[in-house]
Amino acid sequence: MTDTLPPHWDLSQLYTFGSPGLERDMGELKELSHNFLRWRERLSDPGFAPEEFKSALDELVGLQERVERLAGFADLSFSEDTADQRYTSFLGVVEEAAADLANDTLFFELWWKGLPEERARGYMDSVAGHRYFLNRIRDFKPYTLSEPEERVVNLKEVTGAQSLVALYDSITSRYRYQTSFLPEPALLGREEFSVHFRSHDPLTRRGAYREFYSVWSAQGPVIGQIYQSLVRSWRIENVVLRGYASPQSVRNRRNDLTDEAVASLLKVSREEAPKVFGRYFAKKALLLGLPRFTRYDVYAPILEESGGPIPFAEACSLVDSAFRGFSPRMADLAARVAADGRLTARLMPGKRSGAFCRSILPEDTPWVLMSYNGRLQDVFTLAHELGHAMHSMLAADEGVFQFQAALPTAETASTFSEMLLAQALLKGETDPKRRASLLCHVLDDAYATIGRQAFFALFEVEAHRMIEEGATPDELSDAYFRNLCEQFGDQIAVPPEFRWEWVSIPHFFHTPFYVYAYTFGELLVFSLWRLYEKEGPPFADRLIRILSKGGGASPADILASAGVGPLDDDFWRGGFKVIGEFVDAIWMPPRHTRGMAARWEKSP
Ligand SMILES: [Zn+2]
Repeated sequence: MTDTLPPHWDLSQLYTFGSPGLERDMGELKELSHNFLRWRERLSDPGFAPEEFKSALDELVGLQERVERLAGFADLSFSEDTADQRYTSFLGVVEEAAADLANDTLFFELWWKGLPEERARGYMDSVAGHRYFLNRIRDFKPYTLSEPEERVVNLKEVTGAQSLVALYDSITSRYRYQTSFLPEPALLGREEFSVHFRSHDPLTRRGAYREFYSVWSAQGPVIGQIYQSLVRSWRIENVVLRGYASPQSVRNRRNDLTDEAVASLLKVSREEAPKVFGRYFAKKALLLGLPRFTRYDVYAPILEESGGPIPFAEACSLVDSAFRGFSPRMADLAARVAADGRLTARLMPGKRSGAFCRSILPEDTPWVLMSYNGRLQDVFTLAHELGHAMHSMLAADEGVFQFQAALPTAETASTFSEMLLAQALLKGETDPKRRASLLCHVLDDAYATIGRQAFFALFEVEAHRMIEEGATPDELSDAYFRNLCEQFGDQIAVPPEFRWEWVSIPHFFHTPFYVYAYTFGELLVFSLWRLYEKEGPPFADRLIRILSKGGGASPADILASAGVGPLDDDFWRGGFKVIGEFVDAIWMPPRHTRGMAARWEKSP
């Protein structure tokens, strides 16, 4: 690659393995967490004063910070080398300590949740900085059962839903897929195999999807049965026992979104996504020179990466200048990650795959892990993860309980950062082929997180309803297939094996109704992008205001405080409009030269 290696982080800023500091902090955490139990008696005293409440909460903050630091170190060392057994076992030790802490402090949360409104308000005034966090705990009061009931639910959960999810994971992680469509077939796991869905060769893509779903459909009815039980258990606990309005509204409450806002998001996505992505896929078909575009071709790449690898230093300066053009303050924050030794981008054996940004404490520069290969995709990953880091640094004032953004807004800074990079790259790019490829990069992502996830969410709502009415796994597959046909419209053929796709989506099993948060987050960014295009540079301050709130208010309130929203049909339609403009911007070569081997000409 290049003569200078990408950087590797310096974890010794946190701890060193076997050092006295690490031992001491582990010991102190146990001691202090036990010590916290002494508050239990004080809480039942009617004379428990607001100053005492503040002291108890300060202690809780201290405990949380300690456990975050230890857990952060354990996570990061494990990610750096997943094969090192010292790290795996330390991870286990810290997880246990965190569970002990949660147990030792649970009484405080239960007491707080059960407090009459007026008394709670009196205490709240003494700790205004944690207001949202404290209010959130109380929001769930109406859905909380008695203590003995909660205990039964918790205990039964381990052998109930949790064990079904574990069973799903262990059955499906054993699946292997045969690459019989390649000259030298091999048997691969899911991650390695999935790259063939993005092959340049249409026959490879088709072969890969057929093999993938033939494996999943063989056990489809059994996996479907696991799903039925999970859905029933979800409903019994949340709707029947806890009294939530619907299976989905549990998740909406946890995301602090109203049922109406989510319904509006899904309704508009159902109307707009098939139109705008249908238009995109029609253009993509022409760029690829395919006479007929099918579901197999959705992720087909437009062109092979040309030129050599991009040196890491160049990637950094591309990202930096994209950020700097928007907001020098944001660029400075992002630059701190590498400067403070918090970035690992080097390829190393045993390193965790993928990429992430891990914030440990609000006032601390976050840690970023990725494996830099010099592809354009890696430059986007760098921008994405540095966006997360920036978000967390901007929200430092919110404190340990509130600085991390909640699910629906967690991808705002990261996705916006990718858009800034795409914009900067487009500005400097005159070659129409590479311009089209950049636009397709943005649109492929937009499809995967907006259109696809919205239709997943719509299916989930329907599946929960159908199972309540006694539907079989086969009937669910039929419903899923109808959902796909609606999503892709008349122009894009959906081959029949896709009817079992739903059993291969882990989120449906692990975290019901999780997926719409992707649609929410990414479509939100397109809506924000629209404001940026309208307002120009002054918009940077508004975005910073949004990001600085971290997770310190509900998503709707955070946006409203920067004058963004309300989250109604028009708002979401605005996001789709911007996606449509990206589709329009793809320049098409003259008809006779279209296709893979087309002779590209300069755009007029
Ligand atoms: Zn992300």
